[in-house]
Amino acid sequence: MSELLPNYISGKWINSTGRGSALIDPVLGTELVRVDASGVDLAGAFAFARNTGGSALRSLTYPQRAAMLAAASKLLQANRDAYYDISIANSGTVKNDTAVDVDGGIYTLGTYAKLGQNLGDDHFLLDGDWQALGKDPLFQSQHILTPTRGVALFINAFNFPSWGLWEKAAPALLSGVPVIVKPATTTAWLTQRMIKDVIDAGIFPTGALSIICGSSAGLMDQLEPFDVISFTGSAQTASIIRAHPAVTQKSVRVNIEADSVNSALLLPGESASSEALDLLAKEVAREMTVKAGQKCTAIRRVFVPQSLYSAAAQAISARLEKTTVGNPRHESVRMGSLINREQYNSVAQGLAFLEQDCETLHSANKHTLIDVDPSVACCVGPTLLGTRTASGSDAARRVHDTEVFGPVATLIPYRENDLNHALELIRRGQGSLVASVFATDHTKLAQVIPELTDTHGRVHLVSPDVGAVHTGHGNVMPQSLHGGPGRAGGGEELGGLRALSFYHRRAAVQASTVVLSKLKPTGV
Ligand code: NAP
Repeated sequence: MSELLPNYISGKWINSTGRGSALIDPVLGTELVRVDASGVDLAGAFAFARNTGGSALRSLTYPQRAAMLAAASKLLQANRDAYYDISIANSGTVKNDTAVDVDGGIYTLGTYAKLGQNLGDDHFLLDGDWQALGKDPLFQSQHILTPTRGVALFINAFNFPSWGLWEKAAPALLSGVPVIVKPATTTAWLTQRMIKDVIDAGIFPTGALSIICGSSAGLMDQLEPFDVISFTGSAQTASIIRAHPAVTQKSVRVNIEADSVNSALLLPGESASSEALDLLAKEVAREMTVKAGQKCTAIRRVFVPQSLYSAAAQAISARLEKTTVGNPRHESVRMGSLINREQYNSVAQGLAFLEQDCETLHSANKHTLIDVDPSVACCVGPTLLGTRTASGSDAARRVHDTEVFGPVATLIPYRENDLNHALELIRRGQGSLVASVFATDHTKLAQVIPELTDTHGRVHLVSPDVGAVHTGHGNVMPQSLHGGPGRAGGGEELGGLRALSFYHRRAAVQASTVVLSKLKPTGV
């Protein structure tokens, strides 16, 4: 039997009492390690984090906590090779895809370390300016943000064991709030190893970071009114979290990052030879294949004018054609594996469901799997579907509300010169994390922005001048907001210092301006 990874709670490494769940190499089918949380004293763990970890963190200033984030980022950078090895084995990712998770996490941590250096040398933040409450300016109102005296529980998804941890932990720890992370069981190893390295190095105060791997049973029951829960995963599990008494009765603050049927849009007025179409094709092919399409931000729906349907299908397919799929250890392979058999079967089912409304423009069967046993490896080639006609796009319902979490996207034509038709179809997604828009004309790009920002957390605009420098549709940058309304969960993460709001309590202070002037002026 493989090694059982210990959990870190109450300032100690604890071995569970159970046999645990095995983590499997999705390419080779071999058992790697085991995780388990049975017998863990959850009440003690939460109390310790809340009291010991929380008070130690809150006694520090923002720049002091930022310096710890910088030290953690440096340490993780030094151990990067070990994380790459775990990622290839447990997530079946090629190096470039591992980078999105591992280097993305380290970069996000480093970004918050820099942002925190410039915050006030204090224990709270000011929010906005004084507001006069009456005719006499002596008595005014000032809002302040104070770190919540609770714990931040993170329940994370399988696809980002590194980034998913650090993009949440960086703003929480910078805010002075202790973290308990429960990674998705399937890929918990990388999260556990990174936490272990940071704990062993003694960077944060005891109790600031805890990890519980394995079952989520009982975790939500520990939450108290000043705790927060940040969940990433499926809409189905999100609804369980939202309905939990901790949220409905104790007002535990909750952030949900759920699934999303993201869009890419080519604006009217382009031609088959336009650079904007080429940029769209490049981005769609990239988004379909990075992490084998297992990205919450990946492009799922591609909207083009009806007259460019065939040209777009050809341009995207030509790029997909070059994608070599198989064992991520093989140097010629560009796209690795899905995470496990369950996801493999779920992608096959989702594809069959969408095919009822669509034609296949590029088939996964075109890809011979390299250096794998197809009966074991969870590898699958990319598939581009299409709804063929604008009226077909109107009739196809499934493509707008089905997230196939794999290398699958659908090309959807809209009526010629009818941007409103495209926008109406995009809105059928019921709220998404990100939409990207491609066009040559800067004015047209600017005009479409407010048509998308009400239903998307991020709008990514690509014109030929930024073709070589834009950061990518699916890449989540810590400077920009991550999250989306409606079906995407309604959450908000990152966005620079905006992320700190979730971990602070906002209060209005009403006092003499003499009192208010004694508060130090650092705002967010
Ligand atoms: P999932 O099955 O919902 O699991 C997510 C997490 O919830 C896991 O840690 C899981 O633990 C835990 N969990 C399961 N049942 C629970 C319960 N009853 N109470 C509390 N926690 C519970 O999702 P997934 O399959 O890991 O992730 C894929 C989905 O996440 C996709 O739909 C994707 O779009 C979405 N996602 C969204 C974002 C975003 O930022 N919006 C990012 C990444 C992924 P176990 O693993 O132990 O079951």
